[in-house]
Amino acid sequence: MDLMEYQAKELFAKHGVPVLPGETVDTAEAARGVAERIGKPVVVKAQVKTGGRGKAGGVKLADTPDEAVEKAEAILGLDIKGHLTRKVLVTEASDIDTEYYASFLLDRANRTYLAMCSAEGGMEIEQLAVERPEALARVAVDAVAGVDEAKAREIAEAGKIPADVIDEVTQILVAMWRVFVEEEATLVEINPLCRTPDGRIVALDGKVTLDANAEFRHEDVFTAYADVVAEDDLEGRAKAKDLNYVKLDGQVGIIGNGAGLVMSTLDVVAYAGEAHGGVKPANFLDIGGGASAQVMADGLEIILSDPDVRSVFVNVFGGITSCDAVANGIVQALGMLGDAATKPLVVRLDGNNVEEGRRILEEAAHPLVTVVDTMDGAADKAAELAGSAA
Ligand code: GDP
Ligand code: MN
Repeated sequence: MDLMEYQAKELFAKHGVPVLPGETVDTAEAARGVAERIGKPVVVKAQVKTGGRGKAGGVKLADTPDEAVEKAEAILGLDIKGHLTRKVLVTEASDIDTEYYASFLLDRANRTYLAMCSAEGGMEIEQLAVERPEALARVAVDAVAGVDEAKAREIAEAGKIPADVIDEVTQILVAMWRVFVEEEATLVEINPLCRTPDGRIVALDGKVTLDANAEFRHEDVFTAYADVVAEDDLEGRAKAKDLNYVKLDGQVGIIGNGAGLVMSTLDVVAYAGEAHGGVKPANFLDIGGGASAQVMADGLEIILSDPDVRSVFVNVFGGITSCDAVANGIVQALGMLGDAATKPLVVRLDGNNVEEGRRILEEAAHPLVTVVDTMDGAADKAAELAGSAA
């Protein structure tokens, strides 16, 4: 999970990486109070999960609280590389003597961790790597040995950090490594790491990516920093309901149990779709082993709210959860959805207790539901319904 700058800086502060005081606001007027509390010139900064905000007009200095409001007004609502600015960070401004660069990341290609450091920070690191590769030190970090003071000094020296601030930068690198390890990040980056005219070092920007595989050990951080999911973000809404859902660009909604079955369902529907005007699967959705009515309803609700979907193929193989339980789940889910269920459903059941499952669906005789016995036949029916609805 990528964090915003202000969130990265909260983790920096927690682990001893020096940052300047600041607060985030989501209205321009609220920037006034923050600027007044800081009592010095401030910088107003767009909080979006992309770099290059400075160049895009998303970072502005403000000398007075009035000016902070003005700058916040200009930045809120700004589109930066497709990211809408909904929040700004109002933070104490710093005079800059020199901009350095420092990061730790997971180096997948070399199966190790990597430290990068440069006395020539500020500009985008990809650009520095291309234009002045010799100015960007890359130092491998052994996962077991980690980064102690000696290693941190080696990294800073390789990056040509000047001798008069190398002690301070060394301490900051050790603290950055603490963020990396203790928060289980795959990236911790500071650009610029600012040297002030009076020789202090402070992180003016921060970028942190947390390892989603470690979420269960950091529930508090992940919960606090979770994105507010927009109404039209199907994948975000599905994730909030713990569904394994991936949006695709076709017209036949797919629900199945077990990732392998769902994958082959996508193939079968794509193939069947060729005979019906080239319709394709609209999504991947694996509802897993226990296909309860609630999970079925959650899954159907997400799929039916996808405006591209014209029909839905429910493909379930009864194993531990037998077909009668799944059939009851489908009937109850349609009951829960009521008028929200608007598109034809093709259901194919097989496996444990299949006869009873089909009987339950036939007895319910829901006007939107068609039961088809085979996977190929059901795929063809679903594709036909999607094709004719065009
Ligand atoms: P990015 O463009 O998204 O990487 O955003 P940054 O936070 O790195 O800001 C971009 C640039 O704005 C920095 O490289 C600095 O030159 C400048 N900047 C950011 N904060 C301050 C500040 O407090 N004082 C001054 N003078 N410049 C700043
Ligand atoms: Mn930056």
